[in-house]
Amino acid sequence: MQINNVNLVSVKYPAENIFRIEIDRPAGFNFKPGQFARIGISPNNEGSNEIWRAQTIVSRAEEDKTLVFYIVYLEGNPFSDALKKIKSGDKIHLDDLPYGHFTLDRFGPGGDLWLFSTGTGVAPYLCMLQQEKIWENFSTITLICSFRDQTQFVYRDTLPLEFEKLADFQNANYQKFSFIPIYTREKVVSDCIVRGVKTTNTFSRGYFEKLITNGELNYILENSISDINSKVMLSGNPNMIKTTRDFLKTLGLRSSRRNEPGNIAVENYW
Ligand SMILES: Cc1cc2nc3c(=O)[nH]c(=O)nc-3n(C[C@H](O)[C@H](O)[C@H](O)COP(=O)(O)OP(=O)(O)OC[C@H]3O[C@@H](n4cnc5c(N)ncnc54)[C@H](O)[C@@H]3O)c2cc1C
Repeated sequence: MQINNVNLVSVKYPAENIFRIEIDRPAGFNFKPGQFARIGISPNNEGSNEIWRAQTIVSRAEEDKTLVFYIVYLEGNPFSDALKKIKSGDKIHLDDLPYGHFTLDRFGPGGDLWLFSTGTGVAPYLCMLQQEKIWENFSTITLICSFRDQTQFVYRDTLPLEFEKLADFQNANYQKFSFIPIYTREKVVSDCIVRGVKTTNTFSRGYFEKLITNGELNYILENSISDINSKVMLSGNPNMIKTTRDFLKTLGLRSSRRNEPGNIAVENYW
């Protein structure tokens, strides 16, 4: 394994428990949307006992000259505590290869794409939705993100939410796109998009596996997940992933495996 010593371009704190870090992208570091990098940070700035963790790449795979990550801060845990000490201009370590199979080539072409995440698990989708191919390849794209509360939704600028900021390929396919943010610990009005049109909804508090099973999401989206034409990605909290995947299997959906495309792909963050 080759390790790159990379420059930390910036460190920002969009929420009290979320870091946004941007690092220089080493020449030849190519990745597919949905893949992650392994980042190493020394807890004492002396280069010893580095803490390594997987972090999903948010930048545009083709164009960007830097790599951006949104990283949770969990006080008292090794990577989080090391992360708290770094500042722009520091050097951190990056494995020279990207990793992971949570990518769109897990699925055959076409159909309805459903993207579910909890918390920072939205990161792979931030990357995928900046890619032209996803907008062309699927009949509909529905992004359903759950956050603890509104302070955790710090991705507005990276998601295709504002008409005037859309790329041409997003604009041309916007009627395919739906976006549903769900806040699990507060009952608030959610600013949603349903097939390209802005709308608001108030969801019963709770996790989205419940909103699927009780029909609330189907009603709002006028669309439902089926084993015929749905491709479902689940990213983030393993408990959410297990409950949702178990439910999807009762609908006849199958996990996508290497060389055997199915309808479900998952990325467990821990
Ligand atoms: C493939 C993959 C991609 C990942 N991408 C990201 C990413 O883009 N952003 C990110 O913040 N994390 C991501 N993670 C998690 C990340 O690797 C670390 O676990 C995280 O940065 C916390 O590190 P830590 O040492 O502070 O805590 P750890 O010792 O790693 O974890 C301690 C506990 O914290 C909780 N936890 C871990 N990660 C999260 C999280 N993201 N949100 C809420 N609770 C968590 C779990 O309960 C875990 O048992 C990813 C993990 C995997 C496997």
